[in-house]
Amino acid sequence: MKAEKLLKNMQNKLGFSIDGLAVSISNDKIVTLNGTADNWNQVVESGFFAAKTRGVKNVVNNIRVKGSIKKETGLEDLNEALSLGTIASADVVIVGAGVSGCAIARELSALNLSVIVIDKESEVSMGASKANNGMIHPGNAVKPGTLKAKMNVEGNKLYDQWARDLGFAFERTGSIIAAYKGDKMITLYLAYIAGRLNRVPGMRLIFGKKIMQIEPDVPKGAIVGLYTPSTAYVDGFEVTIALAENAAANGAKFMMDTEILGIDKNSGKIERILTSKGIIETGCVINAAGVYADEVAKMADEQFYTIHARRGAIIILDRNTIGAKRNITRVKKLDSSSHSKGGGAQRTVSGNPLLGPSAKEIENKEDTSVLADEFEYAYMRGIEMFPGAGKKNVISFFAGNRPADYKEDFIIEAAKNTPGFIHCAGIQSPGLASAPAIAKRVKGLVLNYFESEGRSITQKHDWNPIRIPPVVFRNKSREEQDKLIKENPKYGNVVCRCELVTEAEIVDAMHRNPPACTLDGIKRRTRAGAGRCQSGFCGPKIVEIMSRELNYDSCEIDLKKKNSSVLLSHSRKKEDKEMLPEASL
Ligand SMILES: Cc1cc2nc3c(=O)[nH]c(=O)nc-3n(C[C@H](O)[C@H](O)[C@H](O)COP(=O)(O)OP(=O)(O)OC[C@H]3O[C@@H](n4cnc5c(N)ncnc54)[C@H](O)[C@@H]3O)c2cc1C
Repeated sequence: MKAEKLLKNMQNKLGFSIDGLAVSISNDKIVTLNGTADNWNQVVESGFFAAKTRGVKNVVNNIRVKGSIKKETGLEDLNEALSLGTIASADVVIVGAGVSGCAIARELSALNLSVIVIDKESEVSMGASKANNGMIHPGNAVKPGTLKAKMNVEGNKLYDQWARDLGFAFERTGSIIAAYKGDKMITLYLAYIAGRLNRVPGMRLIFGKKIMQIEPDVPKGAIVGLYTPSTAYVDGFEVTIALAENAAANGAKFMMDTEILGIDKNSGKIERILTSKGIIETGCVINAAGVYADEVAKMADEQFYTIHARRGAIIILDRNTIGAKRNITRVKKLDSSSHSKGGGAQRTVSGNPLLGPSAKEIENKEDTSVLADEFEYAYMRGIEMFPGAGKKNVISFFAGNRPADYKEDFIIEAAKNTPGFIHCAGIQSPGLASAPAIAKRVKGLVLNYFESEGRSITQKHDWNPIRIPPVVFRNKSREEQDKLIKENPKYGNVVCRCELVTEAEIVDAMHRNPPACTLDGIKRRTRAGAGRCQSGFCGPKIVEIMSRELNYDSCEIDLKKKNSSVLLSHSRKKEDKEMLPEASL
């Protein structure tokens, strides 16, 4: 289609007008949109409209909302980076320490290559990888024929090996989409057909009593269910940490609080990247930057997609809540228009019921607040699978932002004009399920690049795929717990009562590589603060332990990122304390 025709179609069919709308289409079938919209939904709808046009490969959507200002990296930032000088060099730099970046780092750590992973945040897994359902999707919710479908089914199969090697919690319990009287059966059958086309192993329709046999706790009356035994569950954060630790143990370096600001090329080839910490020399950059992947691609003059953030709210219920033990979604709760994969009601690997997610397009990629309508949507998607439960059972809710492009597919390919630049973008759901396959695909692209450079890369002979997981005190028998306490008395100090987490586990989390260095990092690694009281009791104690271990003032301990101190100031000065009688301290 010609640009003029697409422009006319958009003007006639969108149902709203974009001020100064301009459309161009490159020889590679990349559509670029410019103009000004009244609101964010109009921006997103315009992007989807263009993407659905036949033959279009992808869409760069530069339409802005009237009055909104986008922060761009300026010359000053780049000069600042240059002034800091060269801080490191590596064969490969991976931008983004989410599940994609860490899985790629681990895969590459098996090769004789030096690898650096950089992330703008203080901890690994601070993007979508920390705030998801943890579902290892079977592959029946993805469009047949897409790269996503291929990666999903392949990735799902590789998880058993990952879990064995990396020692993270993994449960292959299966999932059911259940249809009750009055539900639209067509939705269920479409999922069945997609699953067949995507070759989802073991998927089958089950009827009547059989549904109750598999999932006895769901409300009675289900007529037909689509059962996928290959559905599994993990904790996305735990998987990402495990990958990072194993990659680090095999030589990959992690540089946190390090934001990529620019990419310098010489004769079309990457020479170095500019970061907030200084220059890193490299010839190969893997772009796994989640919602910012489009901006990183732009730094290499390789942007052919725009990433828009689709926020998903998730609700966690108290572990004691009775009901569904695996993912079970009622057909009528499947929202085909929301671009959300699966979800509904499920139980996390820690045993807590989980409801959601919702799906809302948002302009600010950092905004993970949960609005009332998103909470209600997530709540209503699954609460009926926990009979007798209500809002009193809710212990926590949060949101993550899916990095979606307008073609709704993964973009995993070598850049067209910049050798050594590799896209790993648009990794929205089921990105967690697909991560093992994504990492293998990227490894292939990296090997191709080095081969084209005349460098043949060999396998490391001493690569160790096994990670020793941290001790989880609450999962040990009484005898094992006694033994641990004898060896290290810090196991005898229970810091988080809700989740039974000891001081020794918190200290260990701070000394692993990469380490936990924020209160949230400790919570995600150990579950200290993840229980019913949500760190009301243990939060101050953990701050105290962290300040002692890191030799920081307690006011320097961050909640989730740099300069997000948990405590603002001391209420009493040390000297004042010394003057008080002991009883009043
Ligand atoms: C609510 C919700 C539910 C989901 N449920 C599931 C599910 O059940 N199953 C499933 O398979 N998938 C699910 N997903 C999708 C899954 O979480 C993502 O596909 C996956 O986590 C993406 O990982 P990633 O590493 O590509 O991106 P991210 O985890 O977002 O990581 C990107 C990283 O890049 C860093 N970064 C960005 N810009 C820069 C820069 N300029 N410099 C340095 N670093 C930078 C960020 O800080 C971040 O750490 C869900 C997603 C959401 C939001």
